[in-house]
Amino acid sequence: MSTSVFPDGSRQAIALPSAQISIVVPVYNEVESLPRLIEAIASTLQNNRLNYEIICVDDGSTDGSADLLRQIAGDRTDLKAVLLRRNYGQTAAMAAGFHHATGQVMITLDGDLQNDPADIPRLLEKLDEGYDLVSGWRVQRQDAALTRLLPSKIANWLIAKVTGVNIHDYGCSLKAYRSELVMDMNLYGELHRFLPALAFIEGARIAEIPVQHHARKFGQSKYGLGRTFRVVMDLFTIFFMKRFLTRPMHVFGLFGLIAMLLGMAVGVYLTFLKLTLGEDIGNRPLLILAVVLFLMGIQLLSFGLLAELSMRTYHESQNRPIYRVREVIGSKLEH
Ligand code: UDP
Ligand code: MG
Repeated sequence: MSTSVFPDGSRQAIALPSAQISIVVPVYNEVESLPRLIEAIASTLQNNRLNYEIICVDDGSTDGSADLLRQIAGDRTDLKAVLLRRNYGQTAAMAAGFHHATGQVMITLDGDLQNDPADIPRLLEKLDEGYDLVSGWRVQRQDAALTRLLPSKIANWLIAKVTGVNIHDYGCSLKAYRSELVMDMNLYGELHRFLPALAFIEGARIAEIPVQHHARKFGQSKYGLGRTFRVVMDLFTIFFMKRFLTRPMHVFGLFGLIAMLLGMAVGVYLTFLKLTLGEDIGNRPLLILAVVLFLMGIQLLSFGLLAELSMRTYHESQNRPIYRVREVIGSKLEH
């Protein structure tokens, strides 16, 4: 086990040799890769004498992956197969995997052999230095340059700028997490790629290490260029959550008030023209602008109020505090 300590002395070792490690793999039409993948994961973890379980989540495959998983899970004791009723997408498959995992540490990787299970021990070592999340960085990524690498470069840069989490490769599925962290997070849409950003919002310590990446040998990628659009949309959500989740009125209210005041100013000016100078204002574009600005302001303000209400529902219905405590020291004191 590594011995490095954080400057503030707050390193929390996980005691790796005894920790249970859950490997979560989303699977959608990966029938050719599965046997090798499971073998590779098992041999790496066994060689490192780690206590592990593999959780393969079949995301409504149509190529027989589910039957194969059922069969392998019947033969081995280290594999749990979770079969979803239909195809929900990678994020939902991962969330299902987390839900069925029991380990103190979660590792995620793809079911297509593009990630290398041999990297798992290094991820774990890094995690054990006291991080809450360690992300893989596919330094030599083996995917198509124009449709995959370029959009991904731009997306990674944007995500890092917007979220403030400076890692290079958000798209890499190979990651290690402390379980408390993922258990706390609700995943929607395609937010799995933003797990580091979401974790950062929850106050997690995040690290990144280079990992290997192989070209896809079997089957096909499930994504194309359309993913870029969805990533950008998700980025808006994350940006909003990071900055304004607990105070939506501050953003809607600000823009609402500005719009309303501008509308009022223009309106007053036009009224002045009409009443004192007797000018005809009925056909002036400025009048339309005043009305639009004023209405927009009212809409934004009421939207802010609604957002405040739903934010309260979000936190209170789940007993979800607006803060996360890392540690409480001195718990033996009487209150
Ligand atoms: N996947 C899934 N459900 C989906 C699409 C993908 O579970 O609807 C899984 C897929 O089987 C693979 C992982 O998510 O294990 C990543 O998908 P893929 O390899 O196609 O993405 P890429 O590596 O091309 O980014
Ligand atoms: Mg892949």
